Amino acid sequence: MDFDVIVIGGGPAGLCFARALGVAEGAASAPLRVAVVETQTESALAEPAFDGREIALTHFSARVLRELGLWERFAEGAVSPLRDARVLNGLSLRGMNIEHRHGNKEELGYLVSNHRIRRAAYEAVRASEHVTLITGVRVEDLRTDGDGGYVTLADGRTLGARLIVAADSRFSAARRAMGIPARMHDFGKTMMVCQVEHELAHDHVAWEWFDYGQTLALLPMNGERASVVLTLPQHEMQPLVAMTPEAFSEAITARFNRRLGAMRLTSTRHCYPLVTVYADRFVGQRFALMGDAAVGMHPVTAHGFNFGLKGADTLRRGIQKAHATGADFASNAVLRSYESAHRRATLPLFLATHTVAKLYTTESLPGRVLREAFLGLGERITPFKRLVAATLTGA
Ligand SMILES: Cc1cc2nc3c(=O)[nH]c(=O)nc-3n(C[C@H](O)[C@H](O)[C@H](O)COP(=O)(O)OP(=O)(O)OC[C@H]3O[C@@H](n4cnc5c(N)ncnc54)[C@H](O)[C@@H]3O)c2cc1C
Repeated sequence: MDFDVIVIGGGPAGLCFARALGVAEGAASAPLRVAVVETQTESALAEPAFDGREIALTHFSARVLRELGLWERFAEGAVSPLRDARVLNGLSLRGMNIEHRHGNKEELGYLVSNHRIRRAAYEAVRASEHVTLITGVRVEDLRTDGDGGYVTLADGRTLGARLIVAADSRFSAARRAMGIPARMHDFGKTMMVCQVEHELAHDHVAWEWFDYGQTLALLPMNGERASVVLTLPQHEMQPLVAMTPEAFSEAITARFNRRLGAMRLTSTRHCYPLVTVYADRFVGQRFALMGDAAVGMHPVTAHGFNFGLKGADTLRRGIQKAHATGADFASNAVLRSYESAHRRATLPLFLATHTVAKLYTTESLPGRVLREAFLGLGERITPFKRLVAATLTGA
């Protein structure tokens, strides 16, 4: 075999998993030889372009990123504390407030730009002796048997490993090649993300505002700056993206009802289709799904990459435990144990997020009444708020 593990996809989940396989391994066992195959060029991985996403990270994710040596690579000021969160509905100023004290921590979580995470992950992998990066070429095909897995690259090469891990996005071709079905839901909407400066202080409070006819999110960055996420049908988004920066600044200020005063666009605008995915199975013979390829979350609960890190941590622990005792680290038992742990960790929030996203985009009169009623109830039930805070802080 050319490698012990081949990872398809050098996105944040694939790179962090590859890095994790070497970091915490005991000295007793020989290090696993890992390859990451990525379509993008090496320079695109080394200097990832700004993609608009500010990633809200839980305390668990921050700990994993510290262990992997990514956190120390973030420039000073690149990490913004996310102190509290506010959920708003329609025109009401009352909402549900999740405060850091509910999670017994100074902050609920942290915000870091996705391109910074990707750069840090690349640098950490580059510093890992056990990982080989194969860039600028896509995996065209794969198959597995009882001994291992084999990937065919677009340049004609075939590589073999004892385990294949696919982290090739929520539209994973590897998942399909392995015959694994996935429940996909297209919300028929587009999300636009960009950065703004604004007049009034945000006090490091994140907003999720289920307004009528639009959904707005505000992620507080250091200074009077924020990342804005606007969700609309594509035909309504198109004109906003085409506006001049000045016209867009006025439009977004109005959409936020001037609640943070005047807003000014300070970055490029980036659009993403609102599609969620949950794979029916996370594993196959000598094969595992990782990151968005396994669970592609709705961004409203900001958990996609957090779940990616969780899965990477769970699978690498199973692999390293087996490897340390000389057992087969890609056995059905190891893979099934990853599958059940990751399903338990992700399915409840995936389903809850889906339900919330559906309800809070319902515009009928009974729907609007329900929206207000549930939010009011949530605000009054402190144990519920503690539970939400605990998913972020791990308290
Ligand atoms: C607007 C928005 C906001 C978000 N906010 C948050 C948040 O606050 N918190 C959070 O936790 N998550 C958030 N997410 C989710 C997070 O961005 C994703 O979960 C994460 O980027 C997924 O990483 P990944 O590595 O699994 O997949 P991707 O980032 O999609 O990477 C997949 C990689 O695989 C490569 N690839 C694909 N096919 C092949 C092939 N055949 N051969 C070789 N390489 C291949 C691609 O080039 C790519 O580099 C957000 C997402 C969006 C869209």
